Amino acid sequence: NSFLELNLSRPLIRACEALGYQKPTPIQAACIPLALTGRDICGSAITGSGKTAAFSLPVLERLLFRPKRIPAIRVLILTPTRELAAQVHSMIEKLAQFTDIRCCLIVGGLPTKVQEVALRSNPDIVVATPGRIIDHLRNSLSVGLEDLAILILDEADRLLELGFSVEINELICMCPKRRQTMLFSATMTEQIDELVKLSLNKPVRLEA
Ligand code: AMP
Repeated sequence: NSFLELNLSRPLIRACEALGYQKPTPIQAACIPLALTGRDICGSAITGSGKTAAFSLPVLERLLFRPKRIPAIRVLILTPTRELAAQVHSMIEKLAQFTDIRCCLIVGGLPTKVQEVALRSNPDIVVATPGRIIDHLRNSLSVGLEDLAILILDEADRLLELGFSVEINELICMCPKRRQTMLFSATMTEQIDELVKLSLNKPVRLEA
């Protein structure tokens, strides 16, 4: 029960060590090996369970082996609030500190122009709130999700509670059909089940 057993590359193990993580939390031990196989995952996990690293570490591992000559957004992480997006972004920057993987934060309340430049510089990972990233994608000819490999819906129950279902559906339609999707939610309601059916392909269900 250690990060070494999870088949993560050296730079990611080093980052976990630097953060003082001694062993994976239960959701990490369950999610990381599964996510590395490319399966879709539907996880019921609350904040504090270590779910951010549970989806971020396999995402980073897969990006370490991305083709570098075709720059594109490979991973989109949708969160319900600016605060959560900022937390996820900061966690990923820490986990990616020994790699060349780049992550950018696209949320409301910050200047659009600066974000446009950030998006055009081809980040590997975009952490976003649905409203703001949709504005960028609708208005941009140069930035798109055609090469997306992984979509993550974090705190899906709150995404729906806050009324983002139209935006989420539109974003899902912009993503390639062949992709990996991971959805995390503290509660599993009928509405979440609908979203799972719409966005995930034969998901494995995990509980933490
Ligand atoms: P989260 O549930 O993703 O919001 O994470 C809650 C807190 O747990 C964060 O402060 C993480 O830095 C911390 N954390 C995540 N994974 C581990 C781990 N394996 N060992 C110790 N702390 C962790």
